Amino acid sequence: MPEKNYENLKEEVWDTGICSGCGACVAVCPADAIIFTHDENGDSPVQTGYCKEVTDSVPCGACYAVCPRTATQDKFRVEKTGLGEYRDIFAAHAGFAVEKRQSGGAVTAILVNALEEGLIDAVVTVTADPWTQRPQSVVITQTEALVATAGSRYAWWVPTLAALKSAVITQKMEHIAIVGVPCAVSAARMMKTSDHDLLRPFGRAIRLIVGLFCTETFDYEMLIRDKIMRELAIEPWQISTLDVRGKLIIECTDNTVREIPLPDLEDCVRRGCQACGDLTAVDADISAGSVGSPDGETTLIVRTPAGVGFIDHALQTERLIIETDACSLDGIIHLSQKKSERIHK
Ligand SMILES: Cc1cc2nc3c(=O)[nH]c(=O)nc-3n(C[C@H](O)[C@H](O)[C@H](O)COP(=O)(O)OP(=O)(O)OC[C@H]3O[C@@H](n4cnc5c(N)ncnc54)[C@H](O)[C@@H]3O)c2cc1C
Ligand code: SF4
Ligand code: SF4
Repeated sequence: MPEKNYENLKEEVWDTGICSGCGACVAVCPADAIIFTHDENGDSPVQTGYCKEVTDSVPCGACYAVCPRTATQDKFRVEKTGLGEYRDIFAAHAGFAVEKRQSGGAVTAILVNALEEGLIDAVVTVTADPWTQRPQSVVITQTEALVATAGSRYAWWVPTLAALKSAVITQKMEHIAIVGVPCAVSAARMMKTSDHDLLRPFGRAIRLIVGLFCTETFDYEMLIRDKIMRELAIEPWQISTLDVRGKLIIECTDNTVREIPLPDLEDCVRRGCQACGDLTAVDADISAGSVGSPDGETTLIVRTPAGVGFIDHALQTERLIIETDACSLDGIIHLSQKKSERIHK
């Protein structure tokens, strides 16, 4: 019986506007035939012509098997909300200077510790070009580069997991940590748990999945070009940090601060985010956010034995410091409920 393939993915996910843009299908297509085009219709990928299954009747279906948003996987709408299953929640910060950290630098601390101690050999994450702020999915193998890329990329229009193909297939990395927003995390978990032949090399190589809390992400062109460049007359290279705390806060290199109310950004939110109810990345080994913790701390939710192992190791080396009893679950649950209401509309 033929596997479901890109034609089914197109019908169920691309054409219905629920694609998150995570890039997992791009990473696993063995024919490199699924790509993002970066044009104005770039909410979901496109298929470029050749497909092993459709063209040559060779069983494949990797793209469909990895996508967390197909009809087969539509439990994401109802189950992936709230705090998810967890073993521990606490506030923490890096035990060393992380100049560009978004919250407490705890994510960087866990990853730096894992790299320095040989627990992983690469991190797949998202950086941004400092001149254009355009995000890019990258494979990082050096501590200095990890510390330099701390901070959140909100103008996210990058298929995070696309870089996984380079890490696993080209560079033959065997112990990889992935940092991603909840949709990318769910796809990474699908790779780890799937028994599909073409997903197994990816699943074997992924050792740690770190999820960042996420309410929504913005389209790069609409946020940076239309709102920040045209309306506020700020060039991308003049931005030192972007943060979302009830509004978008733009800190500039000349120390001025500008703000945009979130309702003014509604038309910049990516389409696939409207179908997403997962704030806390329930499929991660460790989830991280700012809500629930005091300024300068990261809320960490530890979910799996792997998550416990990586955290314990970072605590032992004092690269990660716990700030005990500082977490407010109410704040996280409130934000999480607000997000899940969106998918019931
Ligand atoms: C799009 C987006 C929306 C978010 N929304 C919320 C929210 O509503 N509420 C909340 O509490 N927290 C939210 N967060 C999480 C928060 O901004 C911090 O990332 C989190 O608190 C961890 O902080 P930290 O200082 O420990 O991380 P850091 O030490 O600064 O490290 C952050 C790591 O994440 C990587 N990274 C940055 N952007 C991305 C991206 N887009 N995709 C994959 N990796 C990335 C960096 O390369 C770095 O490795 C959001 C993050 C993102 C990226
Ligand atoms: S949600 Fe991810 S895996 Fe599914 S079609 Fe979109 S980019 Fe591909
Ligand atoms: S809200 Fe965040 S996690 Fe959900 S689809 Fe959008 S980017 Fe992905």
